Amino acid sequence: PARRVQGLGTTIFAEMTALAVETGSVNLGQGFPDTDGPVEMVAAAAEALQGGQNQYPPGPGILPLREAVAEHQQRCYGLVWDPADEVLITTGATEAVAAALLAFVEPGDEVVALEPFYDSYAACVQLAGGRLVPVTLRAPDFRLDVDALRTAVTEKTKLLLVNSPHNPTGTVLTRAELEAVAALAVERDLLVVTDEVYEHLVYDDAEHVPLATLPGMRERTVSISSAGKTFSFTGWKIGWVTAAPELVAAVRSAKQFLTYVSGAPFQPAVATGLRLGSAPLEQVRLDLQRKRDLLCDGLEALGLQTFRPQGTYFATTDIAGLALGDGVEFCRTLPRKLGVVAIPSSVFYAEPERGRTLVRWAFCKRDEVLEEALRRLAPLA
Ligand code: PMP
Ligand code: GLN
Repeated sequence: PARRVQGLGTTIFAEMTALAVETGSVNLGQGFPDTDGPVEMVAAAAEALQGGQNQYPPGPGILPLREAVAEHQQRCYGLVWDPADEVLITTGATEAVAAALLAFVEPGDEVVALEPFYDSYAACVQLAGGRLVPVTLRAPDFRLDVDALRTAVTEKTKLLLVNSPHNPTGTVLTRAELEAVAALAVERDLLVVTDEVYEHLVYDDAEHVPLATLPGMRERTVSISSAGKTFSFTGWKIGWVTAAPELVAAVRSAKQFLTYVSGAPFQPAVATGLRLGSAPLEQVRLDLQRKRDLLCDGLEALGLQTFRPQGTYFATTDIAGLALGDGVEFCRTLPRKLGVVAIPSSVFYAEPERGRTLVRWAFCKRDEVLEEALRRLAPLA
């Protein structure tokens, strides 16, 4: 195989979900909800399927969906995008990230990203021939070290790859942290790709601030989101990019030769979802906040050091105190031992040692599933 795919292996999510199925474990590994999103969206998808919307949609996505994305960004954040050339529909956020990195990163370019990071970031930087430069969010609070970020930027830096709310730590970058990112981007004239797929999954008093809303950022930011997380339809793989026309055009150039298009009947259904307004989103948010506490309280009661996140649907624990090996060993043996699957966070680190004893647990599951997982984990106490 070519160098660009060497070492990419199998994603941890495929590996751990297969293990969950094989062992009959409760799967708190891969981040997908076990309850579907709004029935109106399922109905809209069924109607589109039966109504003949089964051929290639237009390259940039169907206009009603691009309009719905633009309306949603305006309603939620006051951001104004032209559906004609500032919105692009993609095959999930995964393709948006891949197409953006392929569109902007030259061989040898450096991409500064928050570590730990969603596993596709490192893989796509490698596919583009770039070099990922990590800026580590460190336990216990996983905040952004602005000085470390500044130090990470060099002459070779092409872009900053930001993710907030952040997978896997659940950190929601504060306005002040994002202002520091923005100031650096403006000062060094950098492009920013921001993955905001968890934009609606924020808890307590945390607030999601889209980077593109900050001064000087609209013209240099490629924003990415997805229906998977917002509407609990991860299998539909409908994502989107919003950015200035020349940036969208570059991403589209790469995207059109990756998948061309996808998800014809799901595109109108996601437009329907975006037009349902904020009530269903608020319901999901409050539900997940409660589930977060259910899982985190339970893990803490077992004596695990638990980092309660302000966003996403993942919680992190440090298992150092259990004397059950590192996170990889713990997660590989846990399914057969206790029947629960989690993800070793070390796979999200450029230097796995930095996340050696951290383990990520997904709480986007029915209450009885979370309770069953906690019952099975009781022997850890
Ligand atoms: N970015 C982050 C941070 C994620 O956690 C995920 C996983 N769902 C994605 C992107 C991929 O999103 P999608 O399923 O829409 O491709
Ligand atoms: N984003 C999801 C997670 O972090 C998984 C997506 C995938 O399986 N690639 O669990």
